[in-house]
Amino acid sequence: MSPIIQTHNPKESYPKVTYSHVVTVDAPAKLVYTAGQVGRDSTGYIPASYEEQVKLAYQNLGHCLAAVNASPKDIVKLTYYIVNYDPNRRDVDVIVVGGGISGLQAAYKVQEAGFSSIVLEARNRVGGKLLAVEIPEQVEGRGKKGGIDLGGAWINDSNQSRAYSLAQRLGLDLIEQATDGDCIVQQSNGAVLRFPYGETPKISSKYQKEVGEIRDNVEDICHSVDDQNAVKYDGMNMEDFVQTQGLGTVALENVTLWTRAMLGCEPSEMSALYFLEYCRLGGGLKQMRSDRKHGGQFLRARQGEKEHNPQSGLLSKIDYFSGMGRLAKGVESMLRPGSVILNSPVSKVAQDSEKVVVTTDSGVQYRCKKLIFSLPTPLYKEVVFEPPLPSEKLNFSSSTHLGYYTKVILIYEKPWWKDHGLCGLTHSFKGPSSLTRDSSSPADNQYSLTCFVVGEPGRKWSTFSRPERHTQILEQVVSIYGPQLSEKAKMPLSILEQDWAQEQFSRGCPCPVTPPGVLSRLGGSLQASFENIHFVGTETARHWKGYIEGALESGDRGAEEVIKLLKD
Ligand SMILES: Cc1cc2nc3c(=O)[nH]c(=O)nc-3n(C[C@H](O)[C@H](O)[C@H](O)COP(=O)(O)OP(=O)(O)OC[C@H]3O[C@@H](n4cnc5c(N)ncnc54)[C@H](O)[C@@H]3O)c2cc1C
Repeated sequence: MSPIIQTHNPKESYPKVTYSHVVTVDAPAKLVYTAGQVGRDSTGYIPASYEEQVKLAYQNLGHCLAAVNASPKDIVKLTYYIVNYDPNRRDVDVIVVGGGISGLQAAYKVQEAGFSSIVLEARNRVGGKLLAVEIPEQVEGRGKKGGIDLGGAWINDSNQSRAYSLAQRLGLDLIEQATDGDCIVQQSNGAVLRFPYGETPKISSKYQKEVGEIRDNVEDICHSVDDQNAVKYDGMNMEDFVQTQGLGTVALENVTLWTRAMLGCEPSEMSALYFLEYCRLGGGLKQMRSDRKHGGQFLRARQGEKEHNPQSGLLSKIDYFSGMGRLAKGVESMLRPGSVILNSPVSKVAQDSEKVVVTTDSGVQYRCKKLIFSLPTPLYKEVVFEPPLPSEKLNFSSSTHLGYYTKVILIYEKPWWKDHGLCGLTHSFKGPSSLTRDSSSPADNQYSLTCFVVGEPGRKWSTFSRPERHTQILEQVVSIYGPQLSEKAKMPLSILEQDWAQEQFSRGCPCPVTPPGVLSRLGGSLQASFENIHFVGTETARHWKGYIEGALESGDRGAEEVIKLLKD
């Protein structure tokens, strides 16, 4: 009897071949022959990374075997060919250095336009200054679920369209920041005072007048900075600025609270031009400081589990304990598989007129036509550029510095502050924490206060041991909330802390600042490309600089720049 020969094409394999993927011959025993399998998926896509191509080739072989009820253990002979492989050379259209939200967004936009891109990320995770962690186990055991944002956490739905659309696209549940109830201010002598959200504490009429004046002056002037007065404001720091407004210690104390809370720095560390421009790019001081509609702190991602939606590819790819940190994971999941290469700190970037060669700490090299560099400027000096960066860019990046910023999160059994008509927002001119905000997710039974331990008081606090640091924070919370609430305030279920200055690949946050005399002279070099290298990152943004929105905007801009050039 002549053998029965059958051909098969598994639906998971790449289509449109002029041959069959699998042939079986039935006699005398069943023999299975497979065509050579390559690293291409069912849509015809070939991943940029070698590792991912190998993985796909073997997956395709698995599909061939499964189609005829065989498995890898049935393989008698396997021949493989690897052509032109050089472990130290990988070629793509675009390499993005840094897998924070700006770099991921840039890589995604490049791929969306039909070009190949990979992201080289130094850490063992994506997201950079976006980081959500799961609630500690001992707390989870008490019926509390979800994740906690140790990095960027708030966006809004009116003037942060990129961040909001992305959150919507990824299906994040957004909740409004709690502003119902009173706030508390702690003065430098430790005295505390309650005041309704949105009002100025009635410490004294002088206090109210000075706070109102400095707030209105910063608001007005930030919108009126132009080429004429930029040099003047860049010639002074924010402390000098307060003096030029004819205001005294009350105004300076409040400016200090703003520069610490917004940038982790003291007023003396930044030029007035820098702070005024920072405010302008965020729509003004009042908008940036607001926790209500249109404000910088209006919406958080609900920190709960979300059911996977099998209808939506994007949702089902994300592990939803959520938090805003999930934005980065979300963009990563929108990239071609294998596009992000973790644990790859870049140490050298060399370019000539045609290509850029990137070398990582471990000596692996990648080649591309265009490079998008997304690191904060204070980290530029960690990378050797060949030829060196233009002098303006070099001088600018060596003049910027990052503030001190630690989030300490106190997780409680119940929202005891709410039961007493308080919204959880406190300001302190004493420290160590300058500010606290409610970061609860009531739907998940998760109640927490986030303390912002920032600027100089934060730097001093960071020199103590962990138990001492936590004792200081709890003592402060107890002193702010007073004897009536002290029993509850001093008994959190858990304390989380994240010191961004200790992070090798951040060195502080949220956005590098410049001292006097830098921005007006060299600021123009920040976004400028250098031959085949393009620069993104939140500090290069033209809208909401320092924020998630700004990071996304800069990623879009960087991608647009290289796409245009690649198309030409
Ligand atoms: C505590 C905190 C609170 C914040 N709060 C808010 C908020 O409420 N709302 C808001 O909008 N924004 C907030 N921000 C700011 C926001 O998180 C950032 O603006 C944004 O995440 C920055 O993204 P980025 O891509 O520009 O930079 P980064 O996130 O810094 O990305 C840079 C990436 O480069 C990587 N990298 C560094 N060196 C190398 C190297 N040599 N080779 C390869 N990779 C390297 C880093 O690991 C990182 O992943 C906050 C930030 C922090 C830290």
